Amino acid sequence: MSHPHPTREALQQEAAVRLATLQGKALSSRDRMAIPSQDMPSQSPDARRANMGEVALGYTAEQARLEALRCLQCKNAPCIDGCPVRIDIPAFVKAMAEGRDAEAIAIIRRNSLLPSVCGRVCPQEVQCQERCTVGKVLKSVDKAVSIGRLERYAADLERESGDFRLPPVKPETGKRVAVIGSGPASITVAADVRREGHAVTLFEAFHKPGGVLIYGIPEFRLPKTIVQQEIETLQAMGVELKTNFLVGRTRKLQDLIDKDGFDAVFVGTGAGLPKFMNIEGENLVGVFSANEYLTRANLMRAYDTGRADTPIFKSRKVAVLGGGNVAMDSARMAVRLGAQEVHLVYRRTEAEMPARVEEVGHAKEEGVLFHMLQNPCRILGNDFGLVTGMECLRYTLGEPDDSGRRRPVEIPGSEFVMEVDTVIVAIGNESNPLIRQTTPGLAVNRRGNLVVAPETGKTSIDRIYAGGDIVLGAATVILAMGEGRKAAASINALLATPVA
Ligand code: FAD
Ligand code: SF4
Ligand code: SF4
Repeated sequence: MSHPHPTREALQQEAAVRLATLQGKALSSRDRMAIPSQDMPSQSPDARRANMGEVALGYTAEQARLEALRCLQCKNAPCIDGCPVRIDIPAFVKAMAEGRDAEAIAIIRRNSLLPSVCGRVCPQEVQCQERCTVGKVLKSVDKAVSIGRLERYAADLERESGDFRLPPVKPETGKRVAVIGSGPASITVAADVRREGHAVTLFEAFHKPGGVLIYGIPEFRLPKTIVQQEIETLQAMGVELKTNFLVGRTRKLQDLIDKDGFDAVFVGTGAGLPKFMNIEGENLVGVFSANEYLTRANLMRAYDTGRADTPIFKSRKVAVLGGGNVAMDSARMAVRLGAQEVHLVYRRTEAEMPARVEEVGHAKEEGVLFHMLQNPCRILGNDFGLVTGMECLRYTLGEPDDSGRRRPVEIPGSEFVMEVDTVIVAIGNESNPLIRQTTPGLAVNRRGNLVVAPETGKTSIDRIYAGGDIVLGAATVILAMGEGRKAAASINALLATPVA
């Protein structure tokens, strides 16, 4: 299937021509809103189905300038209220519109430690961009100023220019902080605490640091070199990294304080425990949790069959169950791993899907087949224990449930069989249980998430703080970073207080 697809050069050319017509003009709000929203250059669907390279290629300089000129510099800046870390959006966008790119990234970095990451994976359309006045006036969030893409452009420019300066670290205080996990919440805590001169040790269960940014979100959405560089920055600041270290097993949480002499601990262990459907046949060979499937492909580079030792299950017909970002990532990964057919099966309709609209669009362009209002009630297998298909039911939508979305209701007698050899279950994750199971006195809620004081991130145990998905349940990168920032401020305040 081939689609008309503008090249990066064509988009650049178009932007350059329009930019030339605006040079030296004092632009009114009307002029700014007349500038078309700039499309993100991307690999064509046909090309990207067969490679792991990043799909979105990033704005050209001309596009970035033009897109920045669309901003109205609203006095009340509603976009800032939509950003969980409150980046000064009008200020950085103005700097870009005026060609002061280095200043733009400096403004972003005041509030965000991972702009290359957030510019790529933030759900901007329900955060900063949802509030944008331009989108509101033009009656479409798609026409809002593309804040995330501009953020990505500024961050990439800085990285690629090699102009990045290490954040300054204050003189050593002699205090020690343990940070457990190495996802975005922990990376933020490690940087913010280290800047104050405290020694920081990062403990990570896997052999590679980065959390979901490394093992979950695929290379084609977030290149791993970007995450790797953030980790190297932490190490250059003096953060010590201990991988293959499972807190709760290798060492108990409380022992880090009582026996190992850490003055404070941050728990950022995420929500990596996959949920299953609990239906017949889920233990057959060929059924995977999305976590396992993506971890094999991303962290262990199973797709690199020539060089990696990780075995990869050769699939012909894949069904992915779920409608969130994790389901989209799994389906698109299956396409790239060579499946002939990839079917996305969801109990509700596309309108209720929690996945980002952009990801749904990309999945469709890449040939993923969507089956709405259907769900398996049984996975079928052969005498060898291998998956051969799914018995499914059709659904209709009933009244809204607790989540506010209309409840899917089974249609009795609607059973049918879908032939597949692989089933990927992507219906959500819960918080990792090991630490709560091995730490007496650590308060958790009924979902198993750690309970913290909202203002400080402190848990029920003194000197132990937590944040990110382990507190929020499966959430977002930027929310995890925001939580990390808050907890780091509390830890820094605790360690600044002289012991009585
Ligand atoms: P994590 O990133 O989960 O990191 C936790 C780390 O702790 C892991 O490395 C884990 O190995 C380690 N760990 C766990 N237990 C222990 C232990 N006992 N000892 C030592 N280490 C331990 N969010 C977005 O904003 N945009 C997206 O597009 C997006 N896509 C996603 C796609 C997928 C496939 C997934 C799974 C999630 C996605 N998310 C997305 C969600 C986002 O990645 C998470 O909300 C975010 O990474 C949470 O950060 P965290 O620091 O709390 O934990
Ligand atoms: Fe928007 Fe996310 Fe950037 Fe904040 S961090 S401005 S929400 S893209
Ligand atoms: Fe610019 Fe939109 Fe923010 Fe207004 S709301 S300052 S137009 S980005």
